[in-house]
Amino acid sequence: MNQNGSTMKFLIIGAGMFGASTAYDVACRGHQVEIVDEVHPGKATLAGAGIVCPWATRLTDPDWYAMYAAGARYYGELIAGLEARGETDLGYRRVGALVVSENPAEFAAAGERIAARTADAPEAGEIRRLGSTEARALFPPLREGLEAIHIAGGARVDARRLSAAMVRAAVTMGARYRNDYITLSTHGGRARALDSTGREIAADEIVVCAGAWAAQILRPLGLMHPVKPQKGQIVHLRLAGTATANWPVLLPMNSYYMLAFDDSRIVVGATREDDSGFDYRVTAEGQFEVLGAGLDIAPGLADAELIETRIGFRPAASSVRPIIGRVPGFDNLALGNGLGAGGISIGPFAGRLLAQSLVGEKPELPIEAYAPGA
Ligand SMILES: Cc1cc2nc3c(=O)[nH]c(=O)nc-3n(C[C@H](O)[C@H](O)[C@H](O)COP(=O)(O)OP(=O)(O)OC[C@H]3O[C@@H](n4cnc5c(N)ncnc54)[C@H](O)[C@@H]3O)c2cc1C
Repeated sequence: MNQNGSTMKFLIIGAGMFGASTAYDVACRGHQVEIVDEVHPGKATLAGAGIVCPWATRLTDPDWYAMYAAGARYYGELIAGLEARGETDLGYRRVGALVVSENPAEFAAAGERIAARTADAPEAGEIRRLGSTEARALFPPLREGLEAIHIAGGARVDARRLSAAMVRAAVTMGARYRNDYITLSTHGGRARALDSTGREIAADEIVVCAGAWAAQILRPLGLMHPVKPQKGQIVHLRLAGTATANWPVLLPMNSYYMLAFDDSRIVVGATREDDSGFDYRVTAEGQFEVLGAGLDIAPGLADAELIETRIGFRPAASSVRPIIGRVPGFDNLALGNGLGAGGISIGPFAGRLLAQSLVGEKPELPIEAYAPGA
C-alpha cells in the first residue's frame, strides 16, 4: 500500500535482476504486480557470472561506486528475507575473493584501494595478504608465484536462481508472471502497454526493466534511451571430481575473472564487446580471448572440460551509473536500467530503491543522481 493506504497495480516489463527485484519489493509492500518477460536469448541475467565483490574495482565514479557498494551490503538482508519466505534455492555463497596481479604497482594500488573502501564496510570481512602457496591452497589452478589479497566477504551468486526466486516470492505474495512480448504506445501523457495479442494491460504504473532491449520498447514513445547491448561471451568449464563449491572468486585486476560453483564448474569471463548489437554467436575470437586470459592466470585449468559458452547482452548506458526513476513527460512510466557489468551486485538494491520511490517511500539512498536524463 502507498502512503494514502491505497493499493496500486504495477506492470513490470522484464524479469532480469532489475525487474525481478523491483517486482519482489513492490509485492512485499502489498501492491498488485504483473511481471511480463519475453525471455530473450541473451538476457544478461542468464549469462552473468555472479561476482558480488565491489571493493577492488578500478572504476571511481562516486555515484556508481556508492550504488555498487550498497548493492553488496544489501545482499545479506535480501538473502535472509528470501530464506524467511521459504526461498532457499539461491546459489549464493560468501566464498571470499582473491585479488591478484602480475604487476606489482597494480597489486599495491589494489591493496590501498581495498583497505580504504573496506574501512567502513564490515560486510567485506577480514582483509589478508596471502603468499602464493596459501593462495593456491584456496584456488588450486592458480599460477605459481602470485601473492593475493583475500577479501573474506566476497561472494558469488547464481543470478538465474536468485532472479527466479525473487519472481517466485513475488508470485507467492499474489503477483502474476507471464512470458510475453510487450509494446508501448502513448495517449495523453500516459504510456499504454499492449501484449502480443494487442490487448491493453491495465496498470497504474508501467515499469520498464527491459535491459539491453529497453531502447526498442521506448522508441515508439519518442524517447531516445541511452542504453545499448554490450555482448559478453563467458565460458563454463568442469573439473570433474573436484569439489569447487568453496573456491574463492579470482580477480586478476584486468577485465577477466573466475569463479566456481557447486557442481565442479568454473566460470571464466568474459568479453566486453561494445557496439555488438544483438549478435548471438559464440565466436572463435571471443572464445580464444576468454580462454587465453583464463589459462594465463590459472594454467591448472588446461585439462578442464569446456561444457558451455553463454552469451549475454549487458545493458550498457552512456554513463556507468544505473538509471532509476520516473520518466519525465509521462504520468505513469518509470525505468530501471543501465546496470552494465555490475548488475548482479547492484540489481537487487537498485530494484528496491525503484520500488521505494514508486510507492511513495523515501529511497534508502537518494536516487536523483540516477534519474532518467540526469
Ligand atoms: C557475461 C556477463 C557476465 C556478468 N558478470 C557479472 C558479475 O559477475 N557481477 C555482476 O554484478 N554483474 C555481472 N554482469 C552484469 C549483469 O548480468 C547485468 O547487469 C544484469 O543481469 C542486467 O539485468 P537486467 O534485469 O537489467 O537485464 P536482463 O537480465 O537482460 O533482463 C531484461 C529482460 O527484459 C526482457 N524484455 C526486454 N524487452 C521486453 C519486452 N518488450 N517485453 C517483455 N520482456 C522484455 C528481456 O527478455 C529480459 O529477460 C554480467 C553480465 C554478462 C553478460
